[in-house]
Amino acid sequence: MGAGRFAPSPSGELHLGNLRTAILSWLFARSTGRDFQLRVEDLDRTRAGAEEVQLRDLRAIGLTWDGVAERQTDRLAGFDGALERLRSADLLYECFCTRRDVADAPRAPHAAPGSYPGTCRDLSDTERARRRAERPAALRLRSATETFTVVDALVGEYAGVVDDFVVRRNDGVPAYNFAVVVDDHLQGIDQVVRGDDLLPSTPRQAYLATLLGAPIPEYAHVPLVLNTDGQRLAKRDGAVTLGDLSTPFEVDGARYDAVEPGEVRDVLLASLGLPAGPLEQALDAFDPANLPRAPWIFDFPSTFGDASTGTPPRHA
Ligand code: GLU
Repeated sequence: MGAGRFAPSPSGELHLGNLRTAILSWLFARSTGRDFQLRVEDLDRTRAGAEEVQLRDLRAIGLTWDGVAERQTDRLAGFDGALERLRSADLLYECFCTRRDVADAPRAPHAAPGSYPGTCRDLSDTERARRRAERPAALRLRSATETFTVVDALVGEYAGVVDDFVVRRNDGVPAYNFAVVVDDHLQGIDQVVRGDDLLPSTPRQAYLATLLGAPIPEYAHVPLVLNTDGQRLAKRDGAVTLGDLSTPFEVDGARYDAVEPGEVRDVLLASLGLPAGPLEQALDAFDPANLPRAPWIFDFPSTFGDASTGTPPRHA
């Protein structure tokens, strides 16, 4: 039996789009008889107290997971082992480039925008020693391909860029693309369900998995949530959290009643074409083939009922 997971970065509260993705990853895992794990991606972008609130909100909408929520920072040894494996296969090199250096470097006419131009790939030993004295090195993967194709349950075949991406940042912290692959492998994750903003990174991750001798997980990248203007949610049009909705709130001077987590869960389930009620019940009706393939247009705040007109707005 494999496992699926939800892997939030504890950088703030989860908004409704994040909660919807969490529900989807749970449904995908449970409907295929998999375990479901919660991984706190705390290598980077952490904010004090955010992890606690994220886990509380996930529980509040009825999400359950197997075992304890694991933190990346408690699993650092796994990263060292994987780095060692890449190093001994001569698949790593030191890179001294700043962001500016990468942006300004001349690149081959066919090179993908933003891909690493290979500046530090073949530095001489002397040059490397000189550069080491200037700034700490990041470690990059010596990639043998420029593209890699993954298969996604919702998107189908997706071919994307693979470059010499960073696996360890120059402050010593494992880079996201590396950490996610190592963690998924060591945690026995064989199903990755997440927002489709991460689809472009997926070919890099799948390629790295092959280099580490890890199986490539099944992928499902789920559409984002958009506002009624077709734009990514901002706070005022629904990038709201359970916390925001837990007390009466105001939008454009109109007042709305508080919304219970169970009601939020039901709105999220309805957006997936699933019946209201506990997640276990939704499981019976869940069929990935019937999932909406387009972004969910979230009509906030009218989804949560009519504005009350009884109380005048506090401010104009
Ligand atoms: N921690 C990442 C995020 O919150 C997600 C990583 C993943 O699902 O692979 O954006």
